[in-house]
Amino acid sequence: MRVLVTGGAGFIGSATAAALRDAGHDVVAADDLSRGRADMVPDGVPLEVVDVTDAAALEPLLAAGRFDACLHFAALIEVGDSMERPEAYFRTNTAGTAVLLEALLRHDVGRFVFSSTAATYGEPERTPIDEEHPQRPTNPYGESKLMTERMLDWLHARRGLRSASLRYFNAAGAVGRHGERADDHQTHLIPVALMAVTSARPPLKVFGTDWPTPDGTCIRDYIHVADLADAHVRALDALEREGLVRANLGNGRGSSVREVLDAVERVTGRPVPHTDEPRRPGDPAVLIASADRARDVLGWAPTRDLDRIVGDAWAHLTEGVAPA
Ligand code: UDP
Repeated sequence: MRVLVTGGAGFIGSATAAALRDAGHDVVAADDLSRGRADMVPDGVPLEVVDVTDAAALEPLLAAGRFDACLHFAALIEVGDSMERPEAYFRTNTAGTAVLLEALLRHDVGRFVFSSTAATYGEPERTPIDEEHPQRPTNPYGESKLMTERMLDWLHARRGLRSASLRYFNAAGAVGRHGERADDHQTHLIPVALMAVTSARPPLKVFGTDWPTPDGTCIRDYIHVADLADAHVRALDALEREGLVRANLGNGRGSSVREVLDAVERVTGRPVPHTDEPRRPGDPAVLIASADRARDVLGWAPTRDLDRIVGDAWAHLTEGVAPA
């Protein structure tokens, strides 16, 4: 298939672009490089530097591209940032995706794979979280993504657009050149912890030690980016059979912040310098996926555990490349 990957110079987008290429698809990456890096785009995948939320800028790309499908990764992605400036999340993630969808429909691109998030569920009523769990986000990031999922329901019902909303739990790890940014903008736990080990960043702040969890720190379901990329390739195939897919992508296992720090120490051989701090606004205490639907509908099963995730992120940080 001819496939457009927005955010193709970003972490999950670039890893998925490589997996799609390897699966035999004809892939074009689109990215405005506001957060992505051109050197993350896989070899053999052309990069169009464009803001995909700008209809006029998209037009020539879609007119020339004759795409069969779009995988939409480009977005603002930080929970804490979204609490500070919700309007930016609604503009880029919700309104921006509406602009993209309108352009895709105009050009008869009939399949859409959407980067959604566990943050659409909010504070869990039950664990693990299945796809029928109520969606009541506790932060604007999750709300901005949920609004897009709702648009996709209507566009399937009224315009026949086939779509898969993949609700990521905590994407992490690295594959090949595709890893999380290691700079001052990074906020995610594993890269920030690894940078604290190398002294590239100050000691890690543990956001909350009084959560209702066994060790008092938040529990998350970390999922390796290579497993995520594999799920996207399968989701694109599934849209041949299915009109509307909504699936969690997680390991189905939770790790607390302290357990992640222990894994970092096992992998690097060094303790993570850290301080205990107050809770971060917008964080739910526990997020663990039920991955049963992804297994049934996509035939997907994650294969990489927390030590592999941290090990590959460490290889990427220190050597610039992780195992393929
Ligand atoms: N976290 C932390 N210190 C940090 C970054 C994250 O304690 O510097 C915690 C955060 O509160 C959450 C977990 O680590 O419980 C994962 O956070 P991250 O930002 O990586 O992903 P999110 O769950 O927000 O998508």
